[in-house]
Amino acid sequence: MPSTLTNSPSARRRNRWIGRLPYFALAFFLATIALLVWLTRQYDAEEQQSALITDVLWMEQNLRFQLDRNEALLQQIGPELLDRSTRPSNQTEAQLRQLMSQDRGIVRVLWIDAQGALKGSLPPQTETSVVGESEGASPSESVMKLARALGRPVYGPAYPVLGDEYHFEVYVPAWSEEAFLGVVVAEYSLSDLVSRELPWWFSERYRVAVLDPDGREIAAKSKISPLASHLSYTTPFEPPGRGLTLQITAYKGETRWMPVLLIASIVLFGAVIVWSIWQLRRQLARRQEAEQALRSESAFRKAMEDSVITGLRARDLDGRITHVNPAFCRMTGFSADELIGAMPPMPYWDPDQIDNTLQVHDVVMASGTPPDGLEVSLRRKNGERFSALIFEAPLIDAEGHNNGWMGSVLDITEQKRARELARQQEERLQATSRLITMGEMASTLAHELNQPLAAIASYNSGCINRIDAGEVDPAELREIHEKIGRQARRAGEIIRRVHDFVRRSEPKHESIDLNGVIREAVGLVEADSRKRQMRLEIDLAPQSPRVMADPVMIEQIMVNLVRNGMDAMRTTPAKSRVIRIRTRSAANTAEVRVIDHGSGIDGETAEHLFQPFFTTKNEGMGMGLNICRSIAELHHGRLTFEPNPSGGTIFILTLPVERP
Ligand code: ADP
Repeated sequence: MPSTLTNSPSARRRNRWIGRLPYFALAFFLATIALLVWLTRQYDAEEQQSALITDVLWMEQNLRFQLDRNEALLQQIGPELLDRSTRPSNQTEAQLRQLMSQDRGIVRVLWIDAQGALKGSLPPQTETSVVGESEGASPSESVMKLARALGRPVYGPAYPVLGDEYHFEVYVPAWSEEAFLGVVVAEYSLSDLVSRELPWWFSERYRVAVLDPDGREIAAKSKISPLASHLSYTTPFEPPGRGLTLQITAYKGETRWMPVLLIASIVLFGAVIVWSIWQLRRQLARRQEAEQALRSESAFRKAMEDSVITGLRARDLDGRITHVNPAFCRMTGFSADELIGAMPPMPYWDPDQIDNTLQVHDVVMASGTPPDGLEVSLRRKNGERFSALIFEAPLIDAEGHNNGWMGSVLDITEQKRARELARQQEERLQATSRLITMGEMASTLAHELNQPLAAIASYNSGCINRIDAGEVDPAELREIHEKIGRQARRAGEIIRRVHDFVRRSEPKHESIDLNGVIREAVGLVEADSRKRQMRLEIDLAPQSPRVMADPVMIEQIMVNLVRNGMDAMRTTPAKSRVIRIRTRSAANTAEVRVIDHGSGIDGETAEHLFQPFFTTKNEGMGMGLNICRSIAELHHGRLTFEPNPSGGTIFILTLPVERP
């Protein structure tokens, strides 16, 4: 079964893995993208680093070149400035001015003779102090000596001047044909050098700072902007050397939006994918839950359907069987495979009643069955016939269309048999009850019968006497014979009534004249009433109501009610001993009232009145009213009672009138 397959542990494990697969794929995808971005950034950083190094090398070259150029110029003009015999030529002065031009970083040029005396300066200096403004031992002197000794320009250390400005000097020895003339000293401003010597594009990209041997920053070309600390490079500031270093740090470049956007969109897409997978899983879970609920529901319904003893059979609109339940298969003896797809005439139809069943089938297919079902005779596979009660209801699909019929089939063979048995017993009981009634009235009836017989006998002996006496008058004789005939008919009528009343015949269901039946009943009991000195008054509806009934059964009710009334009037004063029988008819019902002036019915008796074997009489059997009510109900009527306002009881029999 598919459900067990999908529920097996291995299938569950596989489903779990399949469920997780998108997450793994997504995680792998995001990791790859992240790696790619990282590699790109790494590559970018390396690119920047190498660009930085190239730029630094270029800057170093540039500074060195500038300083070398200045050195060369100073070497050139040195002898002329220091030679006492000559005045500096115009060209020298021009070169001097050129040196002082702004972009070279030189703030002052001094020329000092071999004895250390200041010979001149530009800008001119009033004091005659020696070079080097730092305190203590004049480092300049040692530097000067070193320059002389080495015979090449020597740079002095950096020293602070006003504020946080730092300067350094270059001592360029000047010679005149092997004779040492002195030194030309160029004083550089570190910050000027750094800021002016570098082109704009360089300072746009980098912050250049000069650090002293202790690592303190003593000059910088700065732009206030966050620095990319990882993109920094330090190189010895050579010349001037002396432990000075150049530190070049790249400014943080413009934010590179492309990778940021790329990452952001990937993260966003990732989030969207995760969200949609999550939604999908939720939906899947909901579906699974619904499926599970549906499975349980359908299992429950199947169990229910399998357990019912009512046969269920579904048909489409063409009458083809689409579904049967086990109870239906058991009932008919056919298997589901044999039944599903079958078209009328169905294999379980009674072959002797094919036409009738087909007719019923057509009616059912057109309009279903009446609320109390339809009874049909069916046949099991083994040939056994059975009675079935069928209830048919339309099958309505989810769109509200009637796409077939669902029939509930009940095997009522046993019930029918039991019902028939009960009916027969009831009938027998009624007949017995009638016999008993007749037995009770036997002496009265015998007496009643005796009267016409006695009359006949007396007329007969009268006739014989006349004949014997030879006084035969034909006219008189005829009159006597007419009387004899009347009496004989009267006797015959009594016997017929008794015979009709006690005769056991099949129950009838015929159109009867209610007044006529009442007259018959009265005919049976009037002798009894006479004997008991009670009067019977009949008040019959002018238009006799017609009802569909068995006349003997209705007569039985009337005899019972009248005799009960007479029993109840035993102690009633003679003048009130009247039983009135009244018939009336309304729109749909006919009503018979039997009104007595007897003892009435107290509450206790009323409770048990219609129960079998309930009696308050010594000789009573207690079955009369019970049988009367059964007969009334058999005729779809009612038997009730109410107290008579003028004393006694009124029994009311209501029967539906016959529909034309
Ligand atoms: P039975 O006549 O054999 O007693 P019924 O079933 O005919 O049986 O009556 C049951 C009881 O109902 C009677 O015993 C009587 O007590 C009461 N009963 C019936 N009809 C009347 C009536 N018209 N007036 C008073 N009591 C009645």
